[in-house]
Amino acid sequence: MLTKTDAIVLKSMKFRDTSKIVTFYTRKYGKIKGVAKGARVMKSKFGAALEPMTQVGIVLYRKEHRDLQLLSQCDIVKPYKNIHSDMERMSVAMSVLERINQLTHEEEENMLLYNLLIEIMDELDRATKNHINLLYAFELRYAALFGFSPALDSCGSCGKSTEDFNDERSVVFQLFKGAVMCPTCAESITAQPYERFAVDNVERFIQKLTLTGGNLKISAPTPRILQRLLASNIGGTTSLEFSLPIRNEIDVTLRLYLRYHFEGLKPLKSFEIFQKILN
Ligand SMILES: [Zn+2]
Repeated sequence: MLTKTDAIVLKSMKFRDTSKIVTFYTRKYGKIKGVAKGARVMKSKFGAALEPMTQVGIVLYRKEHRDLQLLSQCDIVKPYKNIHSDMERMSVAMSVLERINQLTHEEEENMLLYNLLIEIMDELDRATKNHINLLYAFELRYAALFGFSPALDSCGSCGKSTEDFNDERSVVFQLFKGAVMCPTCAESITAQPYERFAVDNVERFIQKLTLTGGNLKISAPTPRILQRLLASNIGGTTSLEFSLPIRNEIDVTLRLYLRYHFEGLKPLKSFEIFQKILN
């Protein structure tokens, strides 16, 4: 069946002498892999349309339950020039695409996820600062889409709003429940304090955390900022400002949270590169 859909190019790799295998996240079919025959010869009809981080319109000969579809046409809808010309934006985009590739199965349509991806890519191309916030906003929304939205607006025990937490004290984030404990309620819970080394070594930190049942002790502003990253509209997330230590906490908290809730999740390769640029 010949079919048309919009998509974002997730990945592209060489195939045989002149072709490419391209992974798309499409509006109609979710993740799909296609062969672009002759994509690597001069003057190929595909041009630059098969580059990752590009929004495209594709035409496929689609057969159900086939691993590789045959790509007939691919045209650029949005080239995302700012993303392609800026290392910081690019590493955020690559991280988001890597997550989608890791977390989705082929041919599982999800319109909400497609729309979220487009919103994130559009804003990443447009925003002039704090691009990393879009990765965090994406990860929080992704968890929410699959039923693991953390409850970050108030204490999971007494209901005190995270906006009213005393910033000088620590709080506890319970990774299994996705719940926050205010400074007072946190006093009676065994928790592993956040440590700076976890930014570069999440795997080792997870082992320590498991000993305390997945309870992570973090600074009071962190859940409040996570809540804003989750609940603000996408465009508003890049105007949120916070210090580097808080950013590191957010980073580790989110990576741990996703690891606890999505089995087999691997560390982000694109993100490691990003960390090296920023820190
Ligand atoms: Zn409380």
